[in-house]
Amino acid sequence: MAREEGVKFIRLQFTDIPGILKNMAITVEQLEKALNGELMFDGSSIEGFVRIEESDMYFRPDPKTFIVFPWRPRDGAVARMICDVYNPDGTPFIGDPRYALRRVLEEAAEMGYTCNAGPELEFFLFHLDEKGRPTTITHDQASYFDLSPIDLGEEARRDIVLTLEKMGFEIEASHHEVAPGQHEIDFKYSDALDVADKIMTFKMVVRTIAQRHGLHATFMPKPIFGINGSGMHTNISLAKDGENAFYDPNGPLQLSEVAYHFIGGVIKHIKAITAVANPTVNSYKRLVPGYEAPVYVAWSCRNRSPLIRIPAKRGPSTRIELRSPDPSCNPYLALAAIIKAGLDGVKNKIQPPAPVDKNIYHLTPEERAELGIDCLPGSLIEALAELEKDDVIKDALGPHIYEKFMEAKLKEWDEYRTQVHPWEIETYLTKY
Ligand code: ADP
Ligand code: MG
Ligand code: MG
Ligand code: MG
Ligand code: MG
Repeated sequence: MAREEGVKFIRLQFTDIPGILKNMAITVEQLEKALNGELMFDGSSIEGFVRIEESDMYFRPDPKTFIVFPWRPRDGAVARMICDVYNPDGTPFIGDPRYALRRVLEEAAEMGYTCNAGPELEFFLFHLDEKGRPTTITHDQASYFDLSPIDLGEEARRDIVLTLEKMGFEIEASHHEVAPGQHEIDFKYSDALDVADKIMTFKMVVRTIAQRHGLHATFMPKPIFGINGSGMHTNISLAKDGENAFYDPNGPLQLSEVAYHFIGGVIKHIKAITAVANPTVNSYKRLVPGYEAPVYVAWSCRNRSPLIRIPAKRGPSTRIELRSPDPSCNPYLALAAIIKAGLDGVKNKIQPPAPVDKNIYHLTPEERAELGIDCLPGSLIEALAELEKDDVIKDALGPHIYEKFMEAKLKEWDEYRTQVHPWEIETYLTKY
Protein backbone atom coordinates (compact mmCIF):
# COMPACT_ATOMS: atom_id res chain seq x y z
CA MET A 1 0.00 0.00 0.00
CA ALA A 2 2.79 2.42 0.90
CA ARG A 3 4.49 1.75 -2.44
CA GLU A 4 1.25 2.02 -4.42
CA GLU A 5 0.42 5.37 -2.83
CA GLY A 6 3.92 6.75 -3.40
CA VAL A 7 4.50 7.16 0.33
CA LYS A 8 7.90 8.49 1.32
CA PHE A 9 7.45 9.24 5.02
CA ILE A 10 5.51 7.34 7.65
CA ARG A 11 4.66 8.84 10.98
CA LEU A 12 4.55 6.28 13.75
CA GLN A 13 2.06 7.60 16.28
CA PHE A 14 1.05 6.81 19.82
CA THR A 15 -0.65 8.67 22.64
CA ASP A 16 1.00 9.54 25.93
CA ILE A 17 -0.75 9.46 29.31
CA PRO A 18 -1.94 13.13 29.21
CA GLY A 19 -3.56 12.29 25.85
CA ILE A 20 -1.13 14.03 23.51
CA LEU A 21 -0.41 12.46 20.13
CA LYS A 22 3.28 11.67 19.66
CA ASN A 23 5.03 11.12 16.34
CA MET A 24 8.20 9.59 15.04
CA ALA A 25 8.76 9.92 11.29
CA ILE A 26 10.51 7.15 9.40
CA THR A 27 11.20 6.76 5.70
CA VAL A 28 9.47 4.08 3.68
CA GLU A 29 12.76 2.15 3.57
CA GLN A 30 12.42 1.57 7.32
CA LEU A 31 8.86 0.31 7.09
CA GLU A 32 9.73 -3.39 6.97
CA LYS A 33 11.74 -3.05 10.15
CA ALA A 34 8.94 -1.08 11.82
CA LEU A 35 6.33 -3.71 10.92
CA ASN A 36 8.54 -6.37 12.46
CA GLY A 37 8.49 -4.41 15.71
CA GLU A 38 12.23 -3.74 15.54
CA LEU A 39 12.09 0.05 15.86
CA MET A 40 13.24 1.31 19.21
CA PHE A 41 12.66 4.68 20.83
CA ASP A 42 13.63 6.37 24.06
CA GLY A 43 10.66 6.00 26.40
CA SER A 44 12.18 8.26 29.04
CA SER A 45 11.53 11.31 26.88
CA ILE A 46 7.79 10.70 26.95
CA GLU A 47 5.84 12.11 29.88
CA GLY A 48 4.77 9.40 32.29
CA PHE A 49 6.44 6.52 30.46
CA VAL A 50 9.67 5.25 32.04
CA ARG A 51 12.85 6.30 33.80
CA ILE A 52 16.18 6.75 32.01
CA GLU A 53 17.49 3.39 33.27
CA GLU A 54 14.77 1.44 31.51
CA SER A 55 14.19 3.65 28.53
CA ASP A 56 14.25 1.26 25.56
CA MET A 57 10.77 0.80 24.13
CA TYR A 58 9.60 -0.74 20.90
CA PHE A 59 6.87 0.32 18.47
CA ARG A 60 4.52 -2.19 16.94
CA PRO A 61 2.59 -0.34 14.23
CA ASP A 62 -0.99 -1.55 13.84
CA PRO A 63 -1.39 -2.21 10.08
CA LYS A 64 -5.14 -1.50 10.30
CA THR A 65 -4.32 2.14 11.07
CA PHE A 66 -2.37 2.90 7.88
CA ILE A 67 -3.70 6.17 6.39
CA VAL A 68 -2.19 8.55 3.84
CA PHE A 69 -2.55 12.24 4.81
CA PRO A 70 -4.67 13.72 2.01
CA TRP A 71 -3.44 17.28 2.61
CA ARG A 72 0.19 16.42 1.89
CA PRO A 73 1.61 16.32 -1.66
CA ARG A 74 0.90 13.14 -3.67
CA ASP A 75 4.54 13.08 -4.61
CA GLY A 76 6.52 11.85 -1.62
CA ALA A 77 3.28 11.30 0.29
CA VAL A 78 3.06 11.10 4.08
CA ALA A 79 1.20 8.31 5.87
CA ARG A 80 0.78 7.36 9.47
CA MET A 81 0.31 4.25 11.57
CA ILE A 82 -0.76 4.04 15.19
CA CYS A 83 1.52 1.89 17.30
CA ASP A 84 1.30 -0.30 20.36
CA VAL A 85 4.25 0.13 22.70
CA TYR A 86 6.27 -2.91 23.79
CA ASN A 87 9.02 -3.65 26.29
CA PRO A 88 12.38 -5.00 25.11
CA ASP A 89 11.32 -8.49 26.35
CA GLY A 90 8.38 -8.49 23.90
CA THR A 91 5.61 -7.91 26.44
CA PRO A 92 3.14 -5.03 26.01
CA PHE A 93 4.12 -1.90 27.97
CA ILE A 94 1.76 -1.41 30.92
CA GLY A 95 2.04 2.40 30.63
CA ASP A 96 0.63 2.50 27.09
CA PRO A 97 -2.92 3.96 27.16
CA ARG A 98 -3.89 1.94 24.09
CA TYR A 99 -2.99 -1.22 25.98
CA ALA A 100 -5.18 -0.13 28.93
CA LEU A 101 -8.17 0.04 26.59
CA ARG A 102 -7.21 -3.26 24.95
CA ARG A 103 -7.21 -4.95 28.37
CA VAL A 104 -10.73 -3.72 29.19
CA LEU A 105 -11.99 -4.77 25.75
CA GLU A 106 -10.47 -8.22 26.28
CA GLU A 107 -12.37 -8.44 29.55
CA ALA A 108 -15.55 -7.61 27.61
CA ALA A 109 -14.67 -10.25 25.02
CA GLU A 110 -14.26 -12.87 27.76
CA MET A 111 -17.82 -12.04 28.81
CA GLY A 112 -18.91 -12.47 25.18
CA TYR A 113 -19.26 -8.77 24.31
CA THR A 114 -17.82 -6.38 21.81
CA CYS A 115 -18.09 -2.74 22.68
CA ASN A 116 -19.18 0.01 20.29
CA ALA A 117 -18.64 3.70 20.88
CA GLY A 118 -19.63 6.86 19.00
CA PRO A 119 -18.31 10.24 20.19
CA GLU A 120 -19.72 13.71 19.47
CA LEU A 121 -16.75 16.03 19.46
CA GLU A 122 -17.26 19.76 19.85
CA PHE A 123 -14.59 22.38 19.29
CA PHE A 124 -14.10 26.10 18.73
CA LEU A 125 -12.55 27.78 15.70
CA PHE A 126 -10.80 30.97 16.73
CA HIS A 127 -8.96 33.67 14.84
CA LEU A 128 -5.23 34.26 14.93
CA ASP A 129 -3.74 37.65 15.83
CA GLU A 130 -1.37 39.69 13.57
CA LYS A 131 1.54 37.60 14.80
CA GLY A 132 -0.26 34.33 14.01
CA ARG A 133 -0.92 33.45 17.65
CA PRO A 134 -4.23 31.86 18.65
CA THR A 135 -6.83 34.10 20.30
CA THR A 136 -10.26 33.39 21.77
CA ILE A 137 -11.86 35.75 19.27
CA THR A 138 -14.46 34.58 16.81
CA HIS A 139 -16.04 36.86 14.24
CA ASP A 140 -18.72 34.34 13.69
CA GLN A 141 -22.20 35.30 14.88
CA ALA A 142 -23.93 32.05 13.96
CA SER A 143 -25.66 29.66 16.27
CA TYR A 144 -27.07 26.13 16.38
CA PHE A 145 -27.65 24.70 12.89
CA ASP A 146 -27.26 28.14 11.25
CA LEU A 147 -26.18 28.30 7.63
CA SER A 148 -23.72 30.56 5.84
CA PRO A 149 -23.03 33.35 5.04
CA ILE A 150 -22.92 34.20 8.78
CA ASP A 151 -21.06 31.00 9.65
CA LEU A 152 -17.44 31.97 8.90
CA GLY A 153 -16.04 28.67 10.11
CA GLU A 154 -18.26 26.75 7.71
CA GLU A 155 -15.68 26.74 4.92
CA ALA A 156 -13.13 25.26 7.29
CA ARG A 157 -15.60 22.73 8.67
CA ARG A 158 -16.54 21.61 5.17
CA ASP A 159 -12.89 21.06 4.36
CA ILE A 160 -12.41 19.14 7.63
CA VAL A 161 -15.33 16.84 6.80
CA LEU A 162 -14.06 16.18 3.25
CA THR A 163 -10.57 15.42 4.56
CA LEU A 164 -11.89 13.04 7.23
CA GLU A 165 -13.97 11.24 4.59
CA LYS A 166 -10.88 10.79 2.44
CA MET A 167 -9.27 9.21 5.49
CA GLY A 168 -12.03 6.62 5.87
CA PHE A 169 -14.30 8.36 8.39
CA GLU A 170 -18.02 7.95 7.85
CA ILE A 171 -19.33 11.40 8.82
CA GLU A 172 -22.89 11.26 10.10
CA ALA A 173 -23.44 14.91 10.89
CA SER A 174 -21.63 18.21 11.04
CA HIS A 175 -23.19 21.39 12.33
CA HIS A 176 -22.64 24.71 13.98
CA GLU A 177 -23.05 24.44 17.74
CA VAL A 178 -24.82 26.72 20.20
CA ALA A 179 -21.93 29.11 20.88
CA PRO A 180 -20.39 31.49 18.30
CA GLY A 181 -17.38 29.80 16.70
CA GLN A 182 -18.36 26.38 18.06
CA HIS A 183 -18.80 23.31 15.86
CA GLU A 184 -19.64 19.63 16.12
CA ILE A 185 -18.76 16.82 13.75
CA ASP A 186 -20.06 13.30 14.39
CA PHE A 187 -18.67 10.17 12.83
CA LYS A 188 -20.16 6.71 12.82
CA TYR A 189 -19.62 4.48 15.82
CA SER A 190 -17.41 1.43 15.67
CA ASP A 191 -15.49 -0.76 18.09
CA ALA A 192 -14.03 1.20 20.99
CA LEU A 193 -10.34 0.79 20.10
CA ASP A 194 -10.91 1.97 16.54
CA VAL A 195 -12.91 4.91 17.89
CA ALA A 196 -10.19 5.94 20.35
CA ASP A 197 -7.71 5.92 17.44
CA LYS A 198 -10.19 7.91 15.37
CA ILE A 199 -10.65 10.54 18.11
CA MET A 200 -6.88 11.13 18.15
CA THR A 201 -6.83 11.33 14.34
CA PHE A 202 -9.89 13.59 14.35
CA LYS A 203 -8.26 16.16 16.63
CA MET A 204 -5.10 16.17 14.53
CA VAL A 205 -7.08 16.68 11.29
CA VAL A 206 -9.31 19.42 12.75
CA ARG A 207 -6.28 21.38 14.00
CA THR A 208 -4.34 20.92 10.77
CA ILE A 209 -7.15 21.91 8.41
CA ALA A 210 -8.24 24.84 10.62
CA GLN A 211 -4.67 26.13 10.49
CA ARG A 212 -4.77 25.98 6.70
CA HIS A 213 -7.81 28.28 6.86
CA GLY A 214 -5.99 30.69 9.15
CA LEU A 215 -8.00 29.56 12.20
CA HIS A 216 -7.05 27.92 15.47
CA ALA A 217 -9.09 24.89 16.51
CA THR A 218 -9.25 24.14 20.22
CA PHE A 219 -10.67 21.20 22.14
CA MET A 220 -10.24 23.04 25.43
CA PRO A 221 -13.45 22.30 27.35
CA LYS A 222 -14.42 25.86 28.33
CA PRO A 223 -12.43 28.53 26.49
CA ILE A 224 -14.88 31.37 27.20
CA PHE A 225 -16.76 32.20 30.38
CA GLY A 226 -20.49 32.67 29.98
CA ILE A 227 -21.10 30.53 26.88
CA ASN A 228 -21.34 26.77 26.28
CA GLY A 229 -18.19 24.72 26.61
CA SER A 230 -17.12 21.83 24.36
CA GLY A 231 -18.11 18.31 25.29
CA MET A 232 -17.48 14.87 23.93
CA HIS A 233 -20.77 13.06 24.49
CA THR A 234 -19.88 9.38 24.39
CA ASN A 235 -22.43 6.91 23.02
CA ILE A 236 -21.80 3.31 24.05
CA SER A 237 -23.41 -0.05 23.44
CA LEU A 238 -22.48 -3.70 23.88
CA ALA A 239 -23.03 -6.31 21.19
CA LYS A 240 -23.22 -10.07 21.56
CA ASP A 241 -23.11 -12.37 18.51
CA GLY A 242 -23.59 -9.36 16.26
CA GLU A 243 -26.79 -8.25 18.04
CA ASN A 244 -27.18 -5.11 20.15
CA ALA A 245 -27.11 -6.40 23.75
CA PHE A 246 -28.80 -3.27 25.15
CA TYR A 247 -31.97 -3.86 23.13
CA ASP A 248 -34.81 -6.00 24.44
CA PRO A 249 -38.20 -5.41 22.77
CA ASN A 250 -39.89 -6.88 25.83
CA GLY A 251 -37.83 -5.13 28.52
CA PRO A 252 -38.91 -2.00 30.40
CA LEU A 253 -38.32 0.96 28.02
CA GLN A 254 -37.24 -1.75 25.54
CA LEU A 255 -33.90 -1.99 27.30
CA SER A 256 -32.24 -5.26 28.31
CA GLU A 257 -31.09 -6.23 31.79
CA VAL A 258 -27.53 -5.83 30.52
CA ALA A 259 -28.29 -2.21 29.59
CA TYR A 260 -29.71 -1.51 33.06
CA HIS A 261 -26.72 -3.09 34.77
CA PHE A 262 -24.28 -1.24 32.50
CA ILE A 263 -25.99 2.04 33.44
CA GLY A 264 -25.84 0.97 37.09
CA GLY A 265 -22.09 0.40 36.85
CA VAL A 266 -21.39 3.70 35.10
CA ILE A 267 -23.45 5.59 37.69
CA LYS A 268 -21.74 3.79 40.56
CA HIS A 269 -18.27 4.75 39.29
CA ILE A 270 -19.03 8.06 37.62
CA LYS A 271 -17.17 10.23 40.13
CA ALA A 272 -13.89 8.38 39.55
CA ILE A 273 -14.56 8.24 35.80
CA THR A 274 -14.87 12.03 35.89
CA ALA A 275 -11.20 12.37 36.88
CA VAL A 276 -10.29 10.53 33.66
CA ALA A 277 -12.99 11.83 31.29
CA ASN A 278 -12.67 15.44 32.57
CA PRO A 279 -8.99 15.56 33.41
CA THR A 280 -8.15 19.27 33.34
CA VAL A 281 -8.73 22.15 35.74
CA ASN A 282 -10.72 23.78 32.96
CA SER A 283 -13.02 20.74 32.52
CA TYR A 284 -14.88 21.74 35.70
CA LYS A 285 -15.67 25.20 34.33
CA ARG A 286 -17.82 23.37 31.77
CA LEU A 287 -19.62 21.12 34.27
CA VAL A 288 -21.76 23.93 35.72
CA PRO A 289 -25.52 24.59 35.51
CA GLY A 290 -26.92 26.62 32.62
CA TYR A 291 -24.83 25.50 29.64
CA GLU A 292 -26.27 22.09 28.67
CA ALA A 293 -23.47 20.22 30.44
CA PRO A 294 -24.35 17.69 33.13
CA VAL A 295 -23.91 18.49 36.81
CA TYR A 296 -26.16 15.91 38.49
CA VAL A 297 -25.83 12.13 38.51
CA ALA A 298 -29.02 10.82 36.92
CA TRP A 299 -30.28 9.14 33.77
CA SER A 300 -33.31 9.54 31.56
CA CYS A 301 -34.88 8.55 28.24
CA ARG A 302 -36.77 11.79 27.99
CA ASN A 303 -34.77 14.93 28.48
CA ARG A 304 -31.28 16.10 27.73
CA SER A 305 -30.38 17.51 31.12
CA PRO A 306 -29.08 14.38 32.88
CA LEU A 307 -25.70 12.75 32.89
CA ILE A 308 -26.87 9.71 30.93
CA ARG A 309 -29.48 10.00 28.21
CA ILE A 310 -30.97 7.00 26.44
CA PRO A 311 -31.63 8.22 22.88
CA ALA A 312 -35.05 7.19 21.55
CA LYS A 313 -33.77 4.88 18.81
CA ARG A 314 -33.93 1.16 19.51
CA GLY A 315 -32.85 -1.95 17.61
CA PRO A 316 -29.21 -1.73 16.47
CA SER A 317 -29.04 1.92 17.58
CA THR A 318 -29.87 1.19 21.23
CA ARG A 319 -27.20 2.92 23.28
CA ILE A 320 -26.46 5.04 26.28
CA GLU A 321 -25.15 8.56 25.83
CA LEU A 322 -22.80 9.67 28.58
CA ARG A 323 -22.77 13.46 28.43
CA SER A 324 -20.01 14.38 30.86
CA PRO A 325 -16.75 13.56 28.98
CA ASP A 326 -14.94 16.43 27.30
CA PRO A 327 -12.43 16.43 24.46
CA SER A 328 -9.45 17.23 26.72
CA CYS A 329 -9.52 13.60 27.89
CA ASN A 330 -7.25 10.82 26.73
CA PRO A 331 -9.84 8.82 24.72
CA TYR A 332 -8.14 5.48 25.37
CA LEU A 333 -8.24 6.01 29.12
CA ALA A 334 -11.70 7.57 29.18
CA LEU A 335 -13.22 4.70 27.19
CA ALA A 336 -11.33 2.15 29.30
CA ALA A 337 -12.75 3.71 32.49
CA ILE A 338 -16.34 4.02 31.21
CA ILE A 339 -16.49 0.49 29.77
CA LYS A 340 -14.80 -1.03 32.82
CA ALA A 341 -17.47 0.61 35.02
CA GLY A 342 -20.26 -0.68 32.79
CA LEU A 343 -18.82 -4.20 32.80
CA ASP A 344 -18.57 -4.07 36.59
CA GLY A 345 -22.29 -3.29 36.58
CA VAL A 346 -23.04 -6.22 34.27
CA LYS A 347 -20.89 -8.65 36.28
CA ASN A 348 -22.30 -7.65 39.64
CA LYS A 349 -25.83 -6.96 38.42
CA ILE A 350 -25.75 -3.39 39.75
CA GLN A 351 -29.23 -1.84 39.58
CA PRO A 352 -29.31 1.80 38.49
CA PRO A 353 -31.48 4.30 40.38
CA ALA A 354 -34.89 5.05 38.84
CA PRO A 355 -34.74 7.31 35.76
CA VAL A 356 -35.44 11.00 36.37
CA ASP A 357 -37.67 12.50 33.69
CA LYS A 358 -38.01 15.97 35.21
CA ASN A 359 -35.65 18.82 34.45
CA ILE A 360 -33.24 18.35 37.34
CA TYR A 361 -32.14 21.99 37.18
CA HIS A 362 -35.65 23.03 38.18
CA LEU A 363 -35.66 20.87 41.33
CA THR A 364 -34.87 22.33 44.73
CA PRO A 365 -31.92 20.89 46.66
CA GLU A 366 -34.48 19.17 48.94
CA GLU A 367 -36.26 17.54 46.00
CA ARG A 368 -32.94 16.37 44.62
CA ALA A 369 -31.96 14.91 47.97
CA GLU A 370 -35.30 13.10 48.16
CA LEU A 371 -34.70 11.52 44.76
CA GLY A 372 -31.16 10.61 45.80
CA ILE A 373 -29.60 12.69 43.03
CA ASP A 374 -25.92 13.29 43.64
CA CYS A 375 -23.56 15.83 42.00
CA LEU A 376 -20.50 15.25 39.82
CA PRO A 377 -17.20 16.35 41.39
CA GLY A 378 -16.97 20.14 41.30
CA SER A 379 -13.25 20.41 40.67
CA LEU A 380 -10.27 18.40 39.50
CA ILE A 381 -9.06 17.83 43.05
CA GLU A 382 -12.45 16.43 44.15
CA ALA A 383 -12.46 14.11 41.15
CA LEU A 384 -8.92 12.91 41.90
CA ALA A 385 -9.95 12.11 45.47
CA GLU A 386 -12.80 10.00 44.06
CA LEU A 387 -10.45 8.20 41.71
CA GLU A 388 -8.15 7.38 44.60
CA LYS A 389 -11.05 5.59 46.34
CA ASP A 390 -12.22 3.57 43.33
CA ASP A 391 -10.35 0.31 42.76
CA VAL A 392 -12.36 -0.64 39.66
CA ILE A 393 -11.42 2.52 37.76
CA LYS A 394 -7.84 2.37 39.05
CA ASP A 395 -7.72 -1.15 37.69
CA ALA A 396 -8.93 0.09 34.29
CA LEU A 397 -5.88 2.37 34.13
CA GLY A 398 -3.47 -0.14 35.64
CA PRO A 399 -1.01 0.74 38.43
CA HIS A 400 1.59 2.43 36.22
CA ILE A 401 -0.78 4.82 34.45
CA TYR A 402 -2.73 5.48 37.66
CA GLU A 403 0.40 6.56 39.52
CA LYS A 404 1.76 8.75 36.73
CA PHE A 405 -1.65 10.25 36.05
CA MET A 406 -2.20 11.14 39.71
CA GLU A 407 1.26 12.59 40.08
CA ALA A 408 0.87 14.81 37.00
CA LYS A 409 -2.69 15.89 37.84
CA LEU A 410 -1.94 16.74 41.49
CA LYS A 411 0.90 18.92 40.25
CA GLU A 412 -1.39 20.55 37.69
CA TRP A 413 -3.97 21.25 40.39
CA ASP A 414 -1.40 22.69 42.76
CA GLU A 415 -0.03 25.01 40.08
CA TYR A 416 -3.52 26.25 39.36
CA ARG A 417 -4.55 26.49 43.01
CA THR A 418 -1.70 28.85 43.88
CA GLN A 419 -2.20 31.22 40.94
CA VAL A 420 -3.78 34.62 41.46
CA HIS A 421 -6.65 34.73 39.01
CA PRO A 422 -7.74 37.97 37.21
CA TRP A 423 -11.15 37.48 38.84
CA GLU A 424 -9.55 37.77 42.28
CA ILE A 425 -7.79 41.01 41.38
CA GLU A 426 -11.00 42.46 40.00
CA THR A 427 -13.01 41.44 43.03
CA TYR A 428 -10.59 42.11 45.90
CA LEU A 429 -7.88 44.57 44.90
CA THR A 430 -9.86 47.69 45.57
CA LYS A 431 -12.31 46.17 48.04
CA TYR A 432 -9.73 45.36 50.73
P1 ADP B 1 -27.20 13.58 19.61
O1 ADP B 1 -28.64 13.28 19.34
O2 ADP B 1 -26.85 13.40 21.04
O3 ADP B 1 -26.75 14.92 19.06
P2 ADP B 1 -25.56 12.49 17.48
O4 ADP B 1 -26.48 12.12 16.37
O5 ADP B 1 -24.82 13.78 17.36
O6 ADP B 1 -26.40 12.43 18.84
O7 ADP B 1 -24.47 11.34 17.72
C1 ADP B 1 -24.82 10.01 17.95
C2 ADP B 1 -23.59 9.14 17.98
O8 ADP B 1 -23.98 7.84 18.45
C3 ADP B 1 -22.95 8.91 16.60
O9 ADP B 1 -21.54 8.92 16.71
C4 ADP B 1 -23.46 7.50 16.25
O10 ADP B 1 -22.64 6.80 15.32
C5 ADP B 1 -23.42 6.84 17.60
N1 ADP B 1 -24.20 5.58 17.68
C6 ADP B 1 -25.27 5.20 16.99
N2 ADP B 1 -25.65 3.93 17.29
C7 ADP B 1 -24.76 3.49 18.22
C8 ADP B 1 -24.57 2.26 18.93
N3 ADP B 1 -25.39 1.23 18.77
N4 ADP B 1 -23.54 2.17 19.78
C9 ADP B 1 -22.71 3.22 19.98
N5 ADP B 1 -22.82 4.39 19.35
C10 ADP B 1 -23.83 4.54 18.47
MG1 MG C 1 -24.79 15.62 18.71
MG1 MG D 1 -27.23 15.03 16.54
MG1 MG E 1 -23.48 19.01 20.65
MG1 MG F 1 -25.28 14.24 22.16
